[in-house]
Formats: sequence, structure tokens, C-alpha cells
Amino acid sequence: MDRILLVEDEQSIREPVKLNLELEGYEVVTASTGKKALKAIKEQHFDLLILDVMLPEVDGFQITEQVRLTNEQVPIIMVTAKSDGADRILGLKKGADDYLAKPFQLEELLLRVDKLLIRSKGTENASTEFIEFGLNKVNFNTYEAETPRGPINLTKKEAMLLKLLVDRKNEVVSRQQILQSVWGYDVYPSTRTIDNFILSFRKYFEEEPKEPKFFQSVRGVGYKFVSPKERSASEAVIG
Ligand code: CA
Repeated sequence: MDRILLVEDEQSIREPVKLNLELEGYEVVTASTGKKALKAIKEQHFDLLILDVMLPEVDGFQITEQVRLTNEQVPIIMVTAKSDGADRILGLKKGADDYLAKPFQLEELLLRVDKLLIRSKGTENASTEFIEFGLNKVNFNTYEAETPRGPINLTKKEAMLLKLLVDRKNEVVSRQQILQSVWGYDVYPSTRTIDNFILSFRKYFEEEPKEPKFFQSVRGVGYKFVSPKERSASEAVIG
């Protein structure tokens, strides 16, 4: 189920938009201020963000700017009361993908959400069936990998965790998110289990497992996969 963060300070807009998105089958988290939005973004994974521009404390432009420092991929729709071109251009420059001026019809918002999610999934799939980083090659269809120490076969869980980290490259993925995505809600292994998976990844893929380049720990939060070179999401090669 796709998770959407809806950031809107006006309850009279927030509530009906949330309800309609939920009726379309999305899981919706709401935030009423920019600060709360940034906190949620730091702690949770979202597939799409809907940001009101005029917000208390931190506005929609600033949120977009913050998000794009670490996450180039998540689709962002900006919503503003102002319909003038300058605001729209600023939003797009900061890294928003689409723009909607108030008052808008719910139908139009839903169509745009749908379109952006389909588009982002397209690039996600194209980029992660097969990846290369450093001297490693991983095939996510067969779970086979070539590493500096020779060929290996990943387990299904290893492949799932690796894919999760790679899909969210350069982004910190919390242990909680890893548990939800890889183990699901039923069986909770200890966080130690995740740490052991990461240790294995370092042994497989890092030239110096004790000085990891690709699989980095973020103290107290989780892990991130770092690709040394930035390439566009639609390319099949990472790093
Ligand atoms: Ca507002």
C-alpha cells in the first residue's frame, strides 16, 4: 500500500483530502506544521508527499529543499493558495514534481497523485532488477551476485533487504522501516538480526569490511546504502 504524507495546516482541507486519499486505498499520514512534517519524513518512509506551501514555522518550499538533500526520488506535489507563476516556478526549482493551486478539485489531486506514483514506480523497477556498485553485481531476479571474493547466492531476505537499501540509496533507512519492509508485521526478529545482515553485506561486498563504503551505519537510527557516484534513477547501474 502506498504511503502518502499530507502536510496542511488548515483542518478544513486536511480532513477531506485525507479521507478521499484513504478511499482511493492509500495509507495517509498527516502533519499540520512544517516541523512535524520534517520529523515524520525523517522517521518514516513515504511514497509521495503533498505539501501545502503556506505553513507555520517551516514552509513547503523549505520542506522540499530539505527532502531533496537526501532523497531525489520521492514525488512531491505542492499546493498553494497563490496561483501566480513565481510561486509555481520556485516550487519546481526547489524540486517539486507537480503543482496544484487552491482551490482545487479533489478529483484533480487524485489524478495527479496516481500519475506521479505510476511514474516513480516505473523508474524504481527499471533501476533495481540488476545493479552494479564497486566491483559487485547483483541480480535481484535470481539472487545471484558477483563480488570481489567470488560469486555468491543471496538468501531471499538478504535480497529484500539489499533491494530496500538500494532503492533508497543515500537515504537513512531506520531499523523499524527495515523490519516492516523485510520481515512484515507478524514476525519481529531482534534488531540484532538486522545488524548481522549488514555485517554479512559488508563481508560480501566491501573491499574493506571494517571500513565500509557502501553499507554505512547511522548511529541510533539505522543504515544507508551509499553509492559513490550519482546517476539517474532510470539507469540500471549504480555506483
Ligand atoms: Ca496553509
